[in-house]
Amino acid sequence: MTQGRPLLNRRLTEFGTTIFAEMSALAVRTGSINLGQGFPDTDGPDEIREAAVRALRDGRGNQYPPGPGVPELRTAITDHQQRRYGLAYDPDTEVLVTAGATEAIAAAMLALLEPGDEVIALEPYYDSYAASIAMAGGTRVPVTLHPEAASGTYRLDLGELRAAVTPRTRLILLNTPHNPTGTVLTREELAAVAELARERDLLVVTDEVYEHLVFEGEHIPLASFPGMRERTVTVSSAGKTFSFTGWKVGWITGSPELVTAVRSAKQFLTYVSAGPFQYAVAEALRLPDSYYEALRADLRAKRDLLSTGLAEAGFGVYRPAGTYFVTTDIRPLGGERDGFAFCRALPGRCGVVAIPNAVFYDHRDQGAPFVRFAFCKRADVLEEAVSRLKGLAG
Ligand code: PMP
Ligand code: GLN
Repeated sequence: MTQGRPLLNRRLTEFGTTIFAEMSALAVRTGSINLGQGFPDTDGPDEIREAAVRALRDGRGNQYPPGPGVPELRTAITDHQQRRYGLAYDPDTEVLVTAGATEAIAAAMLALLEPGDEVIALEPYYDSYAASIAMAGGTRVPVTLHPEAASGTYRLDLGELRAAVTPRTRLILLNTPHNPTGTVLTREELAAVAELARERDLLVVTDEVYEHLVFEGEHIPLASFPGMRERTVTVSSAGKTFSFTGWKVGWITGSPELVTAVRSAKQFLTYVSAGPFQYAVAEALRLPDSYYEALRADLRAKRDLLSTGLAEAGFGVYRPAGTYFVTTDIRPLGGERDGFAFCRALPGRCGVVAIPNAVFYDHRDQGAPFVRFAFCKRADVLEEAVSRLKGLAG
């Protein structure tokens, strides 16, 4: 306290320390297998790491790169959007490189919101969304994805989404493939979101960092729907796609007006970042299709390994169509209801760390019995985790 008031401002007091920091620290402290925070335990391709080393040695990016990002990377991003999705963007005016998707989301909220504007986000929501909306003075309006026992997946109720829109709604903050549920929104669901955005004249910020981690169905960028290009900020990042989460290279694509607005905020957050890594990510985005297929095949096998193992260990399993997370229900283990208490006790009980989904909810009771495990780990690590978890129910 100074001047009789708390040091941290009111907008941020509810957030505390992120669950990822808390749980990774717990994993280190207890020597547990960390299936909490989503980072791979094997680095991405050698040639991409070498590309970063080369850039460092050649003096590319060691001084401030251009504010919007180095031209090589901006062009690689627009080529990627064209090649993958048939979306044409101008590398000079319709792309902005950011310090990971996290900065892109924060800058988008700071740029596009006035205090009091409402932002609809799918609940459970990635934790930085709530903090970014709060820092911008916005109000989050969660629309809950519901677990369906029959399909073993989480689904968006389009009626609830529609009902959440008010005259104060400024934007929808979408995320597909969705962390933590693994849901991949279908063409029909995305078309309905697009229709709603057009009808109510809303902006959409769509977080597509898991665009390449889809095992069932397909990833369809929201910006590809009619009338959406001019009202959509698409966010992605190199972290998940190339297994270099520490490099923090992200980006947005959108209309010149949207990109200019987001850049206005971003220039005063970091201005620029990750100079040499930007060159390396430019090379990564040009890897052949076989790279992306191998990544997907590897993670699909790990998804199956962990999902099957968790089911055998007694968890209720929501099989993810995308991302590298699997959400589980702990109630079938018998007597367990509180994911928070469960995750805090798990390292002591069996040497595994997971994330309680409740932290991603405003309606905490709805998220209480669900726990997320990451499967972006070596197969032997997942097998060991499963064998430890199998000791729980007994
Ligand atoms: N969005 C989602 C849905 C995420 O899971 C993450 C975690 N990596 C991020 C954004 C942040 O990405 P980055 O590390 O590129 O900032
Ligand atoms: N996105 C990763 C996850 O959901 C971790 C990001 C972070 O540590 N902030 O686990």
